[in-house]
Amino acid sequence: MCGIVAYVGGRQAYPVILKGLKRLEYRGYDSSGVALLDEELAVYKKKGKVAALEDSLVGKALQSRIGIGHTRWATHGEPSDRNAHPHLSASGKLAMIHNGIIENYAQLKQELLKKGYVFHSDTDTEVLLNFIDDIRENNHCSVEEAVRIALKRVVGAYVIVILDRDHPDTLIAARKGSPLVIGIGKGEHFLASDASPIIEYTKEVVYINDYELAIIRPDELILKNLGNETITPYVQKLDLELAAIEKGGFDHFMIKEIFEQPHTIFDCLRGRLELEQGRIRMKGVEEHMDRLMKADRIIIVACGTSWHAGLVAEYLFEELCRIPVEVEYASEFRYRNPVIRPGDVIIAISQSGETADTLVAIEKAKEQGALIFGVLNVVGSSIARASHAGAYTHAGPEIGVASTKAFTAQLAVLTMMAIKLGMEKGSIDAVRARHLLSELAEIPEKVRQLLENTEDIKRIALKYSKARDFLYLGRGYNFPVALEGALKLKEISYIHAEGYPAAEMKHGPIALVDDQLPVVFIATRDAYHEKIISNIQEIKARRGKVIAVVSEGDMVIPQMADDVIFVPSADEVVAPLLSVIPMQLLAYHIGVELGLDVDKPRNLAKSVTVE
Ligand code: GLU
Repeated sequence: MCGIVAYVGGRQAYPVILKGLKRLEYRGYDSSGVALLDEELAVYKKKGKVAALEDSLVGKALQSRIGIGHTRWATHGEPSDRNAHPHLSASGKLAMIHNGIIENYAQLKQELLKKGYVFHSDTDTEVLLNFIDDIRENNHCSVEEAVRIALKRVVGAYVIVILDRDHPDTLIAARKGSPLVIGIGKGEHFLASDASPIIEYTKEVVYINDYELAIIRPDELILKNLGNETITPYVQKLDLELAAIEKGGFDHFMIKEIFEQPHTIFDCLRGRLELEQGRIRMKGVEEHMDRLMKADRIIIVACGTSWHAGLVAEYLFEELCRIPVEVEYASEFRYRNPVIRPGDVIIAISQSGETADTLVAIEKAKEQGALIFGVLNVVGSSIARASHAGAYTHAGPEIGVASTKAFTAQLAVLTMMAIKLGMEKGSIDAVRARHLLSELAEIPEKVRQLLENTEDIKRIALKYSKARDFLYLGRGYNFPVALEGALKLKEISYIHAEGYPAAEMKHGPIALVDDQLPVVFIATRDAYHEKIISNIQEIKARRGKVIAVVSEGDMVIPQMADDVIFVPSADEVVAPLLSVIPMQLLAYHIGVELGLDVDKPRNLAKSVTVE
């Protein structure tokens, strides 16, 4: 997590960095800071959001053509001014920003304490910085050389960028496990955790790989590996427009992204779903068709909302392809010594493509011979590069910290993949396949219809915004939607919520039900319809408040529920693409009603690049 921005060139660095930090704020907002070098090296930092830093610097003459900036998601040390980045080395010569975790920082710190170093923060970052500066002093070597030596001893994940007081035209950066993009301008370079701070200046970028070190001057970009060999930078063109990362008239990114879903789902299907020909084209799947068809097992690894998309995929692949599926939390999977065989296919799902746990999990599975297939939103991300094959979700940049459009795009990709494999294997017949293709093709329009009138959802949000707890219940394909609904509410409104399979509630959670508890039933028409009606009755009998999400035309459930949200009818296989949207809206409107910062919920950050 955390956002990193740096600049070297002919412009004033501070405005470029400040704007970049605002764009990257979704990655962390515990504190922010900048280091600028003009006549002297100056560091400014502040606890809280980037606006707090900006306010504290109003009226200051910040002259500098080089600088580094950071917006933090704290891992080591509480959010505070003193733990904010950039940090200064004890010699006062180097300033550094860091994204990630130095796992062996305690040991390195002990060594430095013995040498008499005094620390001014609780961060692992300050330890690494002094470790580098200590090597530089003792070996009488350059900063670049010191970084190289230091990083050979460092365990963990990092992107670091260093500003050296004695070299006012040079930035030094290195990466392992966390993302770093370098934008190439005319006589200037921009560094950032993702491309959003860069696109308004240049579309030419270089993605830095693990164990690479960059020496960056206005007119020069030198890439080296840790063995000091020079590497030719691979310059890529960014396929991203500025408008895509701005709010475009909406109050928040989250609501903008919710309303983008008719387009993002359409974009995801476009060029892949060919309704007239009755087929799906997915290059990544076709290239590995043999292996995918013969898969003994599919293991889905993901975290958070992506894990919920994985759970929907479990229903899809088992039903449509008859392949056994396991859905794993990447953080557990990577440490569990799991049994992986060469016949296994791993599907890694991640919006950012940088999720640290997912990345390590797939690397581990790859070593054991499994095929790795990525379902990712960010093109060229670390997981994309570590995968054998994949399918991008093409949802565009997702800035709201709570995932919305990336989730539905993941569902669209996974549904296409399951239908395609099912057709190829013959595990679904031609009639069913055609039906599912047309059901899928209709989703963007149905989402548009659903979003046309959201007044009921706003009213319900208002009615229940003071509730202390929520229960979300669903069955079958809608069970993962219940989990996702509960997660959205927790993230955005800080209201405690639990998601459960509707029938499972009898085994415990029903004890929570009283006349104060809102229970959201995701009860669109499917094979379990009668069953979920019984579950609703069970809640009503205990005086719980039922909010039911039902298919248009349902005459039964609206008679029992306290509040009803209608969604267009659809086959159960594609139903989550519709039923999740009221979940997103409910969480959003409750969060807004409570006056919370829905785009930047407390304690969270968007792309979880630490484990
Ligand atoms: N581990 C560092 C810290 O706690 C960096 C965290 C980040 O990536 O923001 O300050």
